[in-house]
Amino acid sequence: MTDSDLDSDSDPAELAERVRTGTLRLHELEDHVDPDTAAEARRHLLEAETGADLETVGDYGFPAEEADPNIENMIGAAQVPMGVVGPVPIDGGAASGDYYLPLATTEGALLASVNRGLSAIRSAGGSNARVTKSGMTRAPVFRVDGVVEAAETVEWIEDADNLETLREAAESTTSHGELLGIEPYVVGDSVYLRFAYDTKDAMGMNMATIATGEACEIVERETPASLVALSGNLCSDKKPAAINAVEGRGRSVTADVVVPGELVEERLHTTADAIAEANTRKNLIGSAKAGSLGFNAHAANVVGAAFLATGQDEAQVVEGANTITTMDAREREDGTTDLYASVSLASLEVGTVGGGTKLPTQSEALDVVGLRGGGDPPGSNADALAEVIAVGALAGELSLLAALASRHLSSAHQDLGR
Ligand code: NAP
Repeated sequence: MTDSDLDSDSDPAELAERVRTGTLRLHELEDHVDPDTAAEARRHLLEAETGADLETVGDYGFPAEEADPNIENMIGAAQVPMGVVGPVPIDGGAASGDYYLPLATTEGALLASVNRGLSAIRSAGGSNARVTKSGMTRAPVFRVDGVVEAAETVEWIEDADNLETLREAAESTTSHGELLGIEPYVVGDSVYLRFAYDTKDAMGMNMATIATGEACEIVERETPASLVALSGNLCSDKKPAAINAVEGRGRSVTADVVVPGELVEERLHTTADAIAEANTRKNLIGSAKAGSLGFNAHAANVVGAAFLATGQDEAQVVEGANTITTMDAREREDGTTDLYASVSLASLEVGTVGGGTKLPTQSEALDVVGLRGGGDPPGSNADALAEVIAVGALAGELSLLAALASRHLSSAHQDLGR
């Protein structure tokens, strides 16, 4: 049998055998059969080669072809349990009203803890949230002869007319993206240009990369600089990096709440003073001593679980962890003490279109938040999603710090997570 004899009626076991004997390559199966049959053939091969039973991996609830842009060599789906927290009232720049947030995780006690925090926020009247800065970045690195050429390149980039030329080139590749600016950095004979884009409702990493590639051709033509790599790591994507914590990347989003002292005692079983002290000594001083970029208790827990549920790029949880949590005891005139709590996520990279957001379970999860697809105006859905995730992170911080302050943490994990 030749490759051209294969069609969608081909037996998956037979296909697996052909891959095993080397007459067909693992990644070429979709060239000959439909994506579900190709995935089944790979499972046959793996079961024969490894002894693993892949029945559950193969029991997925969507046509494999819908995942085609998102995965190669598909064998099935990793099914992570998904739960929901909320509803919580949010007064945001884009979010407005009551929101549920679906979270996918394997960490028992996480949703119970976040929900406890949300319940306190709900009883306090809800949370405020705002996206304070937005811009997806891509920073190509160029080679020059030395500092003289580096300065010449930077001078060319900073000229207003040239910036306009670069904007036109970059924006010619997208109907949504807008170039916000270009920040140059020089290290010896390397020039880095950090392009920032308003990517509207897309997380924007593909969009920004394609647009920057177009602009780089002009930089190479008009300056002494030669492109070495379209990403020079000053972007900085999927790596812990201070530049994202300081300058922001994706959405910089803040959420806060004032929880009345009585509620802190009733719902969180501790006091504003005890939570504020735990936050200062743990999240601020402890994180500083550890040299951490994130000054929080576990913001990545909510970011990661929300990313998995709603189809975000899970590797960007790294940037989502660039979060500072503040907790302050605020004395009222009557002598009682309220708790002011906030989270500021410097670099939350989220979208409601593109990437994994189109996958069936992920788009259903976005429907639960009420934020699937493009917003009106464009960008408002992704802004709102960032605000909802920030409020979820705030709830997680409140609940965990309260558990630590009241020394309930290990018993909660013992009861719920084991
Ligand atoms: P994408 O799926 O590549 O593109 C989304 C597209 O949706 C946009 O380019 C835009 O088309 C269109 N769109 C329709 N309505 C829109 C709206 N309201 N707002 C914004 N765009 C709208 O997604 P992406 O967000 O650019 O990139 C995310 C993907 O990049 C993820 O899969 C991620 O894993 C991957 N990624 C790529 C890199 C890289 O270096 N390339 C790095 C990390 C991650 P127009 O542009 O034509 O307007």
